[in-house]
Amino acid sequence: MIPAGFEYHRPADIASAVAILTAHGDGARVVAGGHSLIPMMKLRMADLSHLVDLQDIPVLRGISIDGGEITLGAMVTQHELIAHDGLAEAAPILREAALQIADPQVRYMGTVGGNVANGDPGNDMPGLMQCLDASFDLEGPDGARSVKAREFYESAFFTARADEEILVRIRIPRPAPGTGYAYEKQKRKIGDYATAACAAMVRMEGGACAMASVAMTNLSDTPVWSAEAAEALVGTACGPSDIDAAVKAALAAIDPSPDNRGPVEFKRHVAGVIIRRAIARAVSRA
Ligand SMILES: Cc1cc2nc3c(=O)[nH]c(=O)nc-3n(C[C@H](O)[C@H](O)[C@H](O)COP(=O)(O)OP(=O)(O)OC[C@H]3O[C@@H](n4cnc5c(N)ncnc54)[C@H](O)[C@@H]3O)c2cc1C
Repeated sequence: MIPAGFEYHRPADIASAVAILTAHGDGARVVAGGHSLIPMMKLRMADLSHLVDLQDIPVLRGISIDGGEITLGAMVTQHELIAHDGLAEAAPILREAALQIADPQVRYMGTVGGNVANGDPGNDMPGLMQCLDASFDLEGPDGARSVKAREFYESAFFTARADEEILVRIRIPRPAPGTGYAYEKQKRKIGDYATAACAAMVRMEGGACAMASVAMTNLSDTPVWSAEAAEALVGTACGPSDIDAAVKAALAAIDPSPDNRGPVEFKRHVAGVIIRRAIARAVSRA
């Protein structure tokens, strides 16, 4: 199928892009890498009369690591995340997760901004950003604001972003040196979305867990960050029974739906395995 007709816009700055979105309401949408939106248009699940291409807006590009903060422009591709050596040192979980998204062709085009703004529960970056406690900087007709990744997702394809707002950048507090991490994903085949995925980070100090963060992908209609799973680990030695308690807490926070990846019982089983693997590997690297 080919998409229905639309008018193509290619603004050179955020203000012009916001003006086009504001003028055309929900008939307009921005396009970044197009690897989620264009398939939806081809399937006629998205019917848009105006497409606003973000690729000529320089402020949306670039990766910077400045002291305690990592900044990713919304148009940074998944390939750029993987190829950036400074990022691999500052927050290696980003590379580990990005390598598990789709295939190289998709990763050359797909952007981190499109992945987190899309609101698809199957996207891997939203849960990852919740694990990292990232913030999303938005700009719209009423100015700029920032929303925590942990507060951004409302339900499948609905987020705190208003239709006429653009995600400009993602800001991530740089994990402390020595923080253990893991992104574990179970999928049916290479290139598939997750049946279940989990991002975990753990920091140990003097044999006890000083910080933990656990977030899950495609196990509810939004990504799920579990404060209870983190609480089950903090202050413990992260031994087998502590990890059992964290897995139990994380499983209590999910609400998977049956689909062609399996029934609820199967997804819960897979989630338990994946969450345990992610936490155990994060602990082993801490
Ligand atoms: C075969 C295949 C397999 C895939 N497998 C996976 C996978 O395993 N895991 C995974 O996470 N993803 C997967 N994807 C999706 C891929 O990673 C997408 O590229 C990504 O989700 C969206 O990024 P994009 O830049 O292509 O966004 P687009 O498709 O251009 O946009 C997606 C949505 O986000 C909005 N948007 C984009 N940028 C902004 C912005 N800056 N501000 C506001 N709104 C914005 C758009 O309006 C649109 O609604 C797969 C895609 C394909 C084709």
